[in-house]
Amino acid sequence: MTKRTSVTTSAAGFAALGLDPRLLDALTALGYEEPTPIQQASIPPLRDGRDVLAMAATGTGKTAAFALPLLHLIDPALPPKQRLRALVLVPTRELAMQVAEAVHRYGKTLGASALPIYGGASMEQQISRLKRGVDVVVATPGRALDHIRRKTLALTGVRMVVLDEADEMLDMGFSEDLEAILSALPAERQTALFSATLPARITAIANSHLTNPVAVQIERPAVAPGETAKVRQVAYIVARAHKMAALARILDVEAPESAIVFCRTRTEVDQLTETLTARGYRAEALHGGLSQDQRDRVMKRFRAKGSDLLIATDVAARGLDVKHVTHVVNFDVPWESESYVHRIGRTGRAGREGVAITLAEPREHRLLRNIEAATRQKIDIGTVPTAADLRSRQMEQLRDQVVKTLAENELDRYHAIIEQLAEEHDVMDIAAAALRLAARRADGDVEHEDIPSIMPRATERSGAAPRPARQARREFAGKVGGAVAKLYIGAGRKLKIRPGDIVGAIAGEANIPISHIGAVQIGDRHSIVEVPEDKANFIIARLSASTIKGKKVRVRRDQA
Ligand code: AMP
Repeated sequence: MTKRTSVTTSAAGFAALGLDPRLLDALTALGYEEPTPIQQASIPPLRDGRDVLAMAATGTGKTAAFALPLLHLIDPALPPKQRLRALVLVPTRELAMQVAEAVHRYGKTLGASALPIYGGASMEQQISRLKRGVDVVVATPGRALDHIRRKTLALTGVRMVVLDEADEMLDMGFSEDLEAILSALPAERQTALFSATLPARITAIANSHLTNPVAVQIERPAVAPGETAKVRQVAYIVARAHKMAALARILDVEAPESAIVFCRTRTEVDQLTETLTARGYRAEALHGGLSQDQRDRVMKRFRAKGSDLLIATDVAARGLDVKHVTHVVNFDVPWESESYVHRIGRTGRAGREGVAITLAEPREHRLLRNIEAATRQKIDIGTVPTAADLRSRQMEQLRDQVVKTLAENELDRYHAIIEQLAEEHDVMDIAAAALRLAARRADGDVEHEDIPSIMPRATERSGAAPRPARQARREFAGKVGGAVAKLYIGAGRKLKIRPGDIVGAIAGEANIPISHIGAVQIGDRHSIVEVPEDKANFIIARLSASTIKGKKVRVRRDQA
């Protein structure tokens, strides 16, 4: 039986954390139903004015964990020079944009403005924007320091500073910049430090710059649950923009008899339900925005196999127990391992093998690793089925249907047409045309496009602690932002070139921030590196005029 849970239509859990009602409205509009564990633990102490030291990976909801409290400090009515109340420091330009966008989204109802500030962008524009006054600045440390030294970033009114992804900032060599910025800030301020890992260097910063911080750590080593043993677990690493298409493709190929798809927000539930319904699935939405009656009806239909897919938020699906579920899909990686274990425990019941599918964004690989560590089970990384895979699967299904139809032996009334057609056409062709017609009916004869899925590199999956430099470099992949150019560099493994040599040469010779250098692939005799398109020619010129590992090498745009 379903346990009746009291889900209300507003973000009630957030209200209990002491957030401004206008922020609650913003969260409800975004479709958030409940605070995530990291939000639950961090928001109250930050609202109380305490410092916080939080261990949280990307994908746990950490941005809102600091953004919501800091929005309480702003006062858009202040004169421009005194307006800046919060400074968020982040390792990369991409993150600066993302976090500023998140602050803007959450703070819209308060009239808050957030400005991302990073290297490589026009200094003048940033200065003129700062002059007009902003409430929150989200900056990479190098550029923040630049502004502080030019006195274009006035810190006197700053009440809170956040170090986001602190471990990455250190890995990227920002330690001195951070020290300088923290020393330049008013002593009377709050400090929040968020980091995916807490190595000694982070605790050292915390010791010298945080005052009596509240320590927040969510992941507990969960006990390995026997339940998950019967479940085939696979994850796909897909960029956010491709997630809907990827899920639809995976479902088309997996053809689940009955699946629950978990989403983070109501909005996602509604969008996904719409997308999958349009693709011919019998999908139904289940979230806290529905009345208890509506939810009961949805669950009843799902139990009675009147629908194939239940698209749900965690809150709404709490206590839901359905025997015949063959697939559990995590449209997003759950906030914590416990929730993952709980969700996938809903499939593979009664001795049957179940399937758990998880879609993760490239930056969320750490959450997957946490889950693997907690469950002591491996999650395979799959590649999103290609259009060709789907076609071959559809052909297989078509073939099976033909065999079934042949066995039914009720074909006499079609014989006449075929005899007639056969006077002018080859029987093979007639059969093929009939199949094409059937396929078109089933699938709308749509052209399927390939969806890029990203394979993590070997070290990412090994679980071995990577060396900091390597880890940082890996995180750069895909962060170039804007148009990207691929450069061919005529040196590779044979010359003992490592990605660090290439990143180092570009950063050093062309003075490009490491965060603007993308993925590096090392071949035997050559390497390929991604760089910002607008810097490509300059980098080629500078590298061609210098050496890598003491050798002159050919550098050009990659033709491939
Ligand atoms: P983050 O770990 O900050 O990168 O957040 C991961 C994702 O979770 C973002 O897409 C957020 O919009 C979303 N998110 C954060 N908090 C919540 C919440 N309480 N409920 C639903 N989604 C959330």
